[in-house]
Amino acid sequence: MAREDYEIVIGLETHIELGTKTKIFCNCSTEFGGEPNAHTCPVCLALPGATPVLNEKVVEYAVKAGLATNCTIPEYTWQNRKNYLYPDMSPGYQVSQTEDFICQNGYIEIDTENGPKKIRIYEIHIETDAGKLVHGEYTNSSLVDLNRAGVPLAEIVSEPDLRSSEEVEKYLRSLKAIMEYIGVSDCKMQEGSMRADINLSVRKKGDPKYGNRTEMKNMNSFKFIVKAIEYEALRQIDILEDGGEVPSETVRWDEVSQKTIPMRDKDSAAYRPFPDPELAPIVLTKEYVENIRESLPELPEVRKKRYIEEYGLPEYDSKVITASKHFADLFEGAAKICNNPKAVSNWIMTEIIKVLNDQGLEPADIPFSSSDLGNLIILIDNGTISGGIGKKVLAEMFENPKAPEVIVKEKGWVQISDEGAIKEVVLKVLENNPQSVADYKAGKDKALGFLVGQAMKETRGQGNPGMLNKMFLDELKK
Ligand code: ADP
Ligand code: MG
Ligand code: ZN
Repeated sequence: MAREDYEIVIGLETHIELGTKTKIFCNCSTEFGGEPNAHTCPVCLALPGATPVLNEKVVEYAVKAGLATNCTIPEYTWQNRKNYLYPDMSPGYQVSQTEDFICQNGYIEIDTENGPKKIRIYEIHIETDAGKLVHGEYTNSSLVDLNRAGVPLAEIVSEPDLRSSEEVEKYLRSLKAIMEYIGVSDCKMQEGSMRADINLSVRKKGDPKYGNRTEMKNMNSFKFIVKAIEYEALRQIDILEDGGEVPSETVRWDEVSQKTIPMRDKDSAAYRPFPDPELAPIVLTKEYVENIRESLPELPEVRKKRYIEEYGLPEYDSKVITASKHFADLFEGAAKICNNPKAVSNWIMTEIIKVLNDQGLEPADIPFSSSDLGNLIILIDNGTISGGIGKKVLAEMFENPKAPEVIVKEKGWVQISDEGAIKEVVLKVLENNPQSVADYKAGKDKALGFLVGQAMKETRGQGNPGMLNKMFLDELKK
């Protein structure tokens, strides 16, 4: 049998760091970095006698995440201790939800070739993050930094509804966008505030039963996720084709060898969870949940449709722009200022995305405001600068953020639209390029483009291209 005779089945457990200011059970800061163990107290160090109190914001953010992904919110849930010993987890247990969950039975929609597809979310629960081991940095041994211990996480567990690496990428991007829109997490994958465990199995097409699955933990790069899925699926198919059985185990993607490497048997029964006796159950009234539902902002799908209707954006543009809340806010703010929505979307989709990619930045890192972008487009639309100079201004706005008007003035980049000045340049270029003039007169239209190019060079890109073109034609007709 061949690869095409098999179907890939994937379910994701996605961890996102909730963006609360303080930890889940104490008032320590959740800020990234800091001196080792500076953000700790008796509660998150798990000293005897310390009393944890659940952070209300954690509950609110989790409920927001659940409602935005079409979950139901049960009235009564609680938190369990999952007992296991890791050196970076000083209590000897993780507090999590393992039997009943704060959000249940939701879904999100992704676009596929065959139209929209629902990916069901089995549950979302809250839990604690662990600390970090630091190997050999301060002494010749391993030390523990508990700054991250007790930072709140939400784990979003999907049903095994995903069928390819493309679907996984779409699902994760959509989840990321939703969480950004509702403001519960910045979901920065490279900083680890969003990471996914990928459960993957394969089965013969048409087989009603799922196969054995493996799990790849803590994946936080789309590039690696796609490669790991492709490799792992083929590895499992090979095992089955050889008449073997896929062992249920944890595997690790190894970027160096471009392979998945089996790590250990899966043994999830070992945690022996029981309700945390220090923590009260979580009881949420209907009213509480409905208040949060009403406070939810507009979500990506809705915004996408609105941009098509209200701003006349093509569907493709609207999809790209609304995939990030930062892009969407930038678009909407700039479009209101310059009244040229298509130009705004073009700038975002070409130049701005290019700079972000080149510099390895995320939309959240854009250092200028939507009004700066709107004003840049106004400068182009009213002829103060050319589109070409506009790109230089944008690069400057990333480098050294200032209002575009100020940049143009300081750099002396105002477009030359003075008729006398343009004529002077045109005459000079004609005089210096007699061959091109002869070519043009002999019917080679391309020579005109060359002459305009020379004039742009002469004006260091600041000549008004429309005026130059017209002036050359007038002169060449003489
Ligand atoms: P555990 O608690 O051991 O991680 P769960 O039952 O909570 O197991 O499932 C974890 C994830 O594995 C879920 O996202 C689920 O969709 C996915 N999953 C379960 N069975 C399969 C399978 N056969 N193939 C692929 N994914 C699966
Ligand atoms: Mg798991
Ligand atoms: Zn603390």
